[in-house]
Amino acid sequence: MTDAPERVELLRAWRAEGLSLRECGRRLGISKNAVAGFCHRHQIEGPPAQAVRLEAALAALERKRERTRLAMAKARAAAPKPIVERRPEPAPPPRLDLQRAAIVPVRGCQYPIGQPARVGFYFCGDPVAPGAPYCPDHVRLCWQRLPRREAAA
Ligand SMILES: [Zn+2]
Repeated sequence: MTDAPERVELLRAWRAEGLSLRECGRRLGISKNAVAGFCHRHQIEGPPAQAVRLEAALAALERKRERTRLAMAKARAAAPKPIVERRPEPAPPPRLDLQRAAIVPVRGCQYPIGQPARVGFYFCGDPVAPGAPYCPDHVRLCWQRLPRREAAA
């Protein structure tokens, strides 16, 4: 390959456009390595290869994104509407209203039956023994006489 000034300018232009060494060689009918040597001798720089590859990759990515977006929109339009099954909300579990239970005055025997704060708790409610808060049965259960102590000898 002759180092004619026209060729130098031609190659400089092609390389600036981003043509590869292989493509420049194909156009000139010489090998890629011959083009590389020529460019080296005349200090002809090629395109910043990495930047070109990065731009191409970004462009390809954007095209792929667009294809995906279109495919998804198409699929969404074609898909049947999902059937939303509505279930009734479960009824809340029964709760003991503690404040209310504390306010309600207890008539009769106040002996507690069951666990406070649990469903099913209540007070005995039978008629009370005179002077006591409980009915006679619960008075007997709660107050027991201590056995008399024998006088020590
Ligand atoms: Zn009672």
